[in-house]
Amino acid sequence: MVKISVMEKEKQQQGIMEIPQWWTCPEGHEELQKAAHVLGEKELLPRALVSDQERKYPRESLREVAKAGYSAVTIPVEAGGLEDGFTAFAVLSEVFAQYCPSTTMCWVMHMTTAHTIYEAGTEEQRQRLLPRLQAGHVGGLAFSEKATGGHFWNVGSEAKRNESGYSLDAEKSFVTSGGEADFYLVATTSPETNDPDNLMFLLVENDQKGVEAFPFDAMGLRGNASGPMNFKEVQVSLENRIGGEGGMGYFNDNTIDPLFLLGSAACWVGIAQGALNMAINGAKRTVHADTGSSVADYQVIRHELAKAQIKIDSARSMLYRTAEAMDRCQKEGRELSECLYPLWQLKTHAADMVIDVTNAALQVSGGRGYMTGQVEKFVRDGRAGAIMGPTNEVLREWVGRTLIEVPWLD
Ligand SMILES: Cc1cc2nc3c(=O)[nH]c(=O)nc-3n(C[C@H](O)[C@H](O)[C@H](O)COP(=O)(O)OP(=O)(O)OC[C@H]3O[C@@H](n4cnc5c(N)ncnc54)[C@H](O)[C@@H]3O)c2cc1C
Repeated sequence: MVKISVMEKEKQQQGIMEIPQWWTCPEGHEELQKAAHVLGEKELLPRALVSDQERKYPRESLREVAKAGYSAVTIPVEAGGLEDGFTAFAVLSEVFAQYCPSTTMCWVMHMTTAHTIYEAGTEEQRQRLLPRLQAGHVGGLAFSEKATGGHFWNVGSEAKRNESGYSLDAEKSFVTSGGEADFYLVATTSPETNDPDNLMFLLVENDQKGVEAFPFDAMGLRGNASGPMNFKEVQVSLENRIGGEGGMGYFNDNTIDPLFLLGSAACWVGIAQGALNMAINGAKRTVHADTGSSVADYQVIRHELAKAQIKIDSARSMLYRTAEAMDRCQKEGRELSECLYPLWQLKTHAADMVIDVTNAALQVSGGRGYMTGQVEKFVRDGRAGAIMGPTNEVLREWVGRTLIEVPWLD
């Protein structure tokens, strides 16, 4: 039997409705969600504003996330991970983003990189590379190139074969944790392959000769060092090719896209909730002396808050439904690409929603919201969602093509 606390009972008697926990947290993840809030409040929030204002990479925050054991959350226990599944990944991303979106996005990219190494790597590579995650090493994904823009699966860069492996030349347009990560999974092409899919993944260390990172000065997510990177005649040994010489489009659809779309959608849901929480608190606290009313006393404001929360919960419902489907797929040995269609819808909706909700949070917060601080920062951070690839335009095209049954890539 569920015990109702005295405070909850008193609230109920006053006619105050409790939000059921199952509505905001998938069943079985309540403790994880609580622990993530504690970590977020204690470790991520205090550094978030400085990270934004000074464009400071959130290294200490990421270290704390790793210390808490979350640097390999989706990876099986035998490979040194927590094996907590995709729902846990989404819960953590949603909660962390309420405190520091830059840390969250770096961690989502890191987890996507790490999971790809697990899925596509050999046993030797798993044993050699994955223990580094617990030591707090951070990974980054170097895919997008200026030449092909948001079509990040169509890279034009090349790696030429040599005696020891490959000589990599690539100019990447955006790499989260660029110059700050310990290693990168670089997408390039192999001219040697007979596979029509010539996508190839090379693991490059940050301190290798020929690796160069450029600053990232952007509207939001200012701490996450997502600037351009150049890889100039970088020598990569055969043992650091992750997967085949070509043929890696499979892992793009079955690992990279599913993890990135899920983790980033969770981040947009978290940003929206973080902004709305601030707006709610501000509306309750701000009292106008002439009317004696708080901002929250105005019905029109309560409707704005309600509309925003309903939008967040619509994206959150899609988020956890899709995460649970991914967990089921994995458990039953089916491919994660089965979940791509709902993932496209989810990411598009979450990234559109965060723009609407953070805007509403700023409006409700009035001049206080417009001032430099958490609310305006959430507006700027959340704006990246629709732009980060696959962009919302591309995703809507894929959803639309699916609806009319024409190939989604041609
Ligand atoms: C903060 C941030 C972090 C990032 N981190 C990484 C990272 O870690 N690794 C990485 O590899 N990349 C990263 N990226 C790159 C990102 O994933 C996208 O590839 C990139 O932002 C979009 O490419 P682009 O800017 O060249 O735009 P373009 O592709 O030139 O797009 C311009 C406009 O055209 C639209 N458009 C493009 N193609 C189509 C189409 N086929 N149909 C309809 N409309 C289209 C777009 O939606 C957009 O509105 C990051 C980007 C940002 C902003």
